[in-house]
Amino acid sequence: MQTILVSTYDLGHQPQIGAELAAICENLAVVDLTRDANNVDLSGAERVIITAPMFTGSIAAREFIESHQDDLVGIPVVLAGLYASVLEEALDPDLRKRLILHALNRFRPSDLLGSLEGGDVAPPTAKREYRTNRRSLLPLTSYRKVLARGVEVTSGYVEASVGCRHRCLHCPVAAVWGGRIAVNDRDGVLADIEEQYRLGARHISFGDPDFFNAPRHTIPIIEEAHRRFEELTFDITVKVSELVKHEAWLDTLAESGLAFVISAVESLSPMVLEHLGKGHTPEEVFRARDILFARNIGMHPTFVPFTPWTTREDILDILDFVWTSHLEDVVEPVQYSIELLIPPNSLIDRSQEGFLDYDTGIMGYPFSYRDPSLLPLQQHIASLASECGGGGYAEIFEKIYSISEAELGRTKRVARPDRRAPDPVIVTEPWFCCAAPVR
Ligand code: SF4
Repeated sequence: MQTILVSTYDLGHQPQIGAELAAICENLAVVDLTRDANNVDLSGAERVIITAPMFTGSIAAREFIESHQDDLVGIPVVLAGLYASVLEEALDPDLRKRLILHALNRFRPSDLLGSLEGGDVAPPTAKREYRTNRRSLLPLTSYRKVLARGVEVTSGYVEASVGCRHRCLHCPVAAVWGGRIAVNDRDGVLADIEEQYRLGARHISFGDPDFFNAPRHTIPIIEEAHRRFEELTFDITVKVSELVKHEAWLDTLAESGLAFVISAVESLSPMVLEHLGKGHTPEEVFRARDILFARNIGMHPTFVPFTPWTTREDILDILDFVWTSHLEDVVEPVQYSIELLIPPNSLIDRSQEGFLDYDTGIMGYPFSYRDPSLLPLQQHIASLASECGGGGYAEIFEKIYSISEAELGRTKRVARPDRRAPDPVIVTEPWFCCAAPVR
């Protein structure tokens, strides 16, 4: 029986669920809409899985379902990912009635197949079997690379854990996992790294929502991978408040090939951070940066600059941070344009003024800015960021910084200290995670 996986958006790496499904499903075909949207053939499909990992992927999924609805009618279709139920609700009611739909927000690969067969989904467990087979996927070289000191290397992707212990109020992971995690089988993760090394990867991105959720499990995996393949480098994602608490773990990781850490700074406004429930202060952001730089580990901050509570000064604070930290050639310009997303299961408190009625089109609650001048500024920044195709970030940063300074009437740029940042290591495809430019 042929199963088709339609993968919508995976931040520029190979569709991970495609690798995990191929290990347990014999007749699997994978369609990656980010790489090959024009050659989709569902004619032989007997069952279809469509990913809805986050907002961007879910918008693509909805368009896909609408344009391929005639092929999908009459066969089981599973929507899979953090946004699965949100996507299901956002489909046209008549279309929804015509389809045999299941939505799974949190799952193991076997749950997807079980659900297609009409079976029950097994209860979640704290340990997950992790087996992968990358035969059904496009080659690693079709995906984002890592660029360091002018040398581009093939990049792979694994997950040592899923879910998150934290509950940041704006985050779809928190809304779905409710503070829980599960760890993936250690030997399976190492085997997957080994396989991707054999396929040419010389850098591995760990996609764990927070690598320090299960440090006794995750850190030894990097240590072991480094022992086996000394030339491999890694990146991980860690929350700011965890970086400042665990310097010793970073010492270990620095010695094991850790090249950079992605960290969700979001904002440098104490009020915005409070509304997002981030659990860190602006001072801790500077401290986290210094801790990483002292170990020659790069920092890839991500931002949600545009929220209902943002002021124009907050936008400049973010740009000043990037400038004074010498990160303008590292931060993907799309990050400066991100607006807060508020899906229906969001934990954000919407009882305050400024939140509008639910909008199916954006699968969330729109808001109006307290300072109306922020809307044209966001649109201008988003339009400049869209010029970026991967690399050349500093040039676009300069344009964004200049218009933001002009907007605020600032005539003299803040001084910046001498460079302390490690040599930039960037990914060659701009990406964004659980937030996105929506307008
Ligand atoms: S933003 Fe990051 S740390 Fe916070 S709940 Fe989401 S995944 Fe966890």
